[in-house]
Formats: sequence, structure tokens, C-alpha cells
Amino acid sequence: LEKASIDIGESKSFKAELALEYMRLVLAKNQKMNLTSITDPLEFIEKHIIDSLVALDYARGDISLIDVGTGAGFPGVILKIANPSLKLALLEATKKKLAAVASMAGQLGIGPIDFYPMRAEEAAQMKGMREKYDVAIARAVARLPAHLEYLAGFVKVGGQLVAMKSGQIDAEILSAKNAAKTLGFGNIELAEAALPYSGASRKLAVYTKHAPTDRQFPRHNSLISNSPL
Ligand code: SAM
Repeated sequence: LEKASIDIGESKSFKAELALEYMRLVLAKNQKMNLTSITDPLEFIEKHIIDSLVALDYARGDISLIDVGTGAGFPGVILKIANPSLKLALLEATKKKLAAVASMAGQLGIGPIDFYPMRAEEAAQMKGMREKYDVAIARAVARLPAHLEYLAGFVKVGGQLVAMKSGQIDAEILSAKNAAKTLGFGNIELAEAALPYSGASRKLAVYTKHAPTDRQFPRHNSLISNSPL
């Protein structure tokens, strides 16, 4: 963590132990269902745990954060372990995966966490979730224009939308310029980190919302994928 310049605050060893315990639970569950293709513990620590923590600067304090398409709980569960004050919501379309995450988080005793076993396009139109979050984040869910459309409806005006990416993202950011503007986002801030063992580069594209998102967004999934904004 020092090597990657990530500060997880107080109770470092307790939090590290919780994160490792989460890894053990995921790897055990992974024997019975498909949660992750990464099964080597060192690789898991780097590509799931440390990679999730690269976004910690956007998950500080007692803000509300929704992790969209959390899969096996990344980055959301790890951010909650590092910052127990986080008001965390996890959304995932595959109900079975989210049930597994809920059960493992329960075993670790890291609640409360809100779990939404549904698609982002439905949830983002629900009154209780529309523009209710300080931060919406996702890793490895879609290319940037679709990523923005899936997440935009959750973010409060003044809040942030975070896209966790790797490799070259300049072209992707350019291709998402229209989507960002249409969905109510202005400023974009880029953060970069190198993972400590492999040196692989990670990038965060962070958009700030300056206007409400029009109710027509997010559109139906087929439109989001077939005619991106
Ligand atoms: N975020 C996790 C990670 O980085 O390890 C999982 C990434 S996995 C490649 C993408 C996940 O997003 C899958 O579990 C998939 O079911 C979920 N997903 C994709 N589109 C979604 C949508 N529109 N609404 C909710 N979940 C979605």
C-alpha cells in the first residue's frame, strides 16, 4: 500500500486482515461458482484488493457511494473495509453473485450495506435511488459512454462519477465527451496509479455532475449498447 501511495487510515493491520479474510472467502466460494478468474493470492491482492483501493480518495468520510456491477464485490467491499463510515450500496445484475457477496460481507461483519440485485438501467430510474448518491463508481462494466449512462442517474448534482480503467484511455474519454455533456457532467479529472508488484497502470476518470440527468437516461440496455451517446 505504501508503494502505491494508498493511505487506509487507522487500524491498518485490522483492515488488512479483513481484506485478506474476504479474499479467502471469495476464493473458497469460487470453487463452487464463478466469481473471479484470479485465483493466485498475490495476484488477487494486487488486482482486486489494491486495485480497488486506488479509488479510496473518492470514498473518504461518511459519503454515500454506489458500486454498479460489483461482481464479487470490487471495488465496493474493499472500500468499505478501508473506510467503515462509507454508506455503501452494491448493485449487481447477477442475483447469485450478489447473494454470495452479501453472505461473505455478513460473515466479515462489515455492514450495513444496501444490496440491489438488479440492472443499473432499472435501479437508476427508481425514486429512492435517483440522484441519491455522492459517488457512483464501477470497474470493468462497460466502455466509457455506456459506463456513464449506466451510472449517471444515481449521482446527486455536485457528486462524482468514477470510472476505473487501465491502459490507454484518451481515445475512450474523447468518445465519451458527448455522453458526459448530455448526462449533466462537466469537469473531468484524471488520476493515475501504478500497481505495486506488476507496475501495471491504473487510471480513474472522475466526472463531476453539474446538472440533473434527463429522465430519459439511462435508456433501455439495447440502446445503450447499440447506439451509445
Ligand atoms: N466490478 C467487478 C470487478 O471489477 O471485479 C465485476 C466486473 S465484471 C467484468 C462486470 C459485472 O457487471 C458483472 O458481474 C455483470 O453482471 C455486471 N453488470 C454488467 N452490466 C450491468 C448492468 N447494466 N447492471 C448491473 N450489473 C451489470
